[in-house]
Amino acid sequence: MVTTQEGAEFDVVVIGGGPGGYATALYGASAGLKIAVVEKDKVGGTCLHRGCVPAKEFLETASVLRTVAGAKEFGVQADQPAVDFSVSQGRKQKVVDQLHKGLAGLMKSRGVTTFAGTGTLLGAGRVQVDGPEGTAETIGHHVVIASGSVPRTISGFDVDGELVLTSDEVLSLEELPASVVVIGGGAIGCEFASMFCDLGSQVTVLEALPTLLPGCDEDVVRVVGRSFRKRGIAIHTGTSVHGHSPNGSGTTVSFGDGESVSVDAVVVSVGRRPLTDGLLADGTGVAVTERGFVSVDPYMRTAAQNVWAVGDVVDTPQLAHVGFAEGIVAVKTMLGEPAVPVDYSRVPWCIYCHPEVAFAGLTEATARQAGLDVVVKQDPFGGNSRARILGDTDGLVKVVAEREHDGRAGRILGVHMVGPWVTEQLGQGYMAVNWEATPEELGQFLQPHPSLSEAFGETVLALTGRGLHVSS
Ligand SMILES: Cc1cc2nc3c(=O)[nH]c(=O)nc-3n(C[C@H](O)[C@H](O)[C@H](O)COP(=O)(O)OP(=O)(O)OC[C@H]3O[C@@H](n4cnc5c(N)ncnc54)[C@H](O)[C@@H]3O)c2cc1C
Repeated sequence: MVTTQEGAEFDVVVIGGGPGGYATALYGASAGLKIAVVEKDKVGGTCLHRGCVPAKEFLETASVLRTVAGAKEFGVQADQPAVDFSVSQGRKQKVVDQLHKGLAGLMKSRGVTTFAGTGTLLGAGRVQVDGPEGTAETIGHHVVIASGSVPRTISGFDVDGELVLTSDEVLSLEELPASVVVIGGGAIGCEFASMFCDLGSQVTVLEALPTLLPGCDEDVVRVVGRSFRKRGIAIHTGTSVHGHSPNGSGTTVSFGDGESVSVDAVVVSVGRRPLTDGLLADGTGVAVTERGFVSVDPYMRTAAQNVWAVGDVVDTPQLAHVGFAEGIVAVKTMLGEPAVPVDYSRVPWCIYCHPEVAFAGLTEATARQAGLDVVVKQDPFGGNSRARILGDTDGLVKVVAEREHDGRAGRILGVHMVGPWVTEQLGQGYMAVNWEATPEELGQFLQPHPSLSEAFGETVLALTGRGLHVSS
């Protein structure tokens, strides 16, 4: 048994140093709180080491390859490009390592104490840390659970890191499989399908639900599906996967009504489960839902006094920036400051497949299902000068507004984008939805020309009833 620093007691002990945990720590430290973070692996969590950052880094590799392959169209002579995946893997790791170093240094410079080890909440502010130096106990007036999530798996597909992979293994591959089945056509599944396809693998996507990207607007999904099929990705939706039989060099996956496909690797991308294994000692008073999530109120308070939970371990959208926002709400509330709970129906969603997808707020279908009368306009990127210049015109911007009594478009309910760099364009759409801005208000703002963001400006102008390029 070792003890923590002599007499170390903290205002807040955070279990888990991923986005939810480190945002809580950095925001709390900025507010003058004395913070400890217990992390069993590396600060940065899934997002930095096995998620957002490495996945987007490989998608950027795919984008560079596409650009070079299309260079001739611009009169730029380039040999047929090829990928040396060991270099790509090395670059990805360098980006991750630099960011990890920066984050660890930032936490240190803010006075956050990091304990290496696995944290267990014992109760009333007491956290046990099992680490390389033995077992210690650290005390915090408040404890924040930010232990995150791990990939879900499905029966019949035991993850071995060679034939069957989850996102954890995909992002450390040393060689690209020549052919791959992606089970799950959600955000992460579509990013992997797009990346593997662009890097030269033969890709099949199997999705149980009727469409790719469940939850996205159907016009957006149509664009993604069309682009995927054009690039040779085989898509089977509304299909169930039965199992797989290794066949020497690869495996044969059976699905649907007697169908099968033989591939080099299977990527299981069916969501993530909250990680609470061994986290809570008996009698902490923290409640956990049937699906294993830590239960919280809108201010991130668990059922136990002074115990909070944020990020993927609670049943809210599993996004890094949602964890950031929840950490801020928790810290403000523990400080007794007024906090605005996260409005989960209006958070920004970005999917970095090609073409990219970005949205906030209600889809046309969910708005109608909610009984709202809506006015909808969309502007395809085909008519946008910057998209033409880029040679990347697949996509559209769609805005859903509530219909006023006089028939005009009122508050904006949802903004949905698919196409070039839309993940960088969502900002003003996200603001519009959350500010409940109207097209009349937004139509007064200028968009630079030529820019991709003109598509958003054109769409809101059309909603005022007087469009320039988009008819009203
Ligand atoms: C392939 C992929 C791509 C993604 N892309 C995006 C994206 O583009 N944008 C986006 O917003 N989100 C994305 N996500 C989701 C994002 O990574 C998660 O929402 C985010 O990492 C959740 O943050 P968290 O802090 O709750 O948990 P995590 O990031 O999972 O961090 C939890 C941390 O807690 C530690 N831990 C767990 N239990 C203990 C314990 N008992 N003691 C000590 N330490 C513990 C873990 O080691 C880990 O470091 C992606 C995820 C994946 C898998």
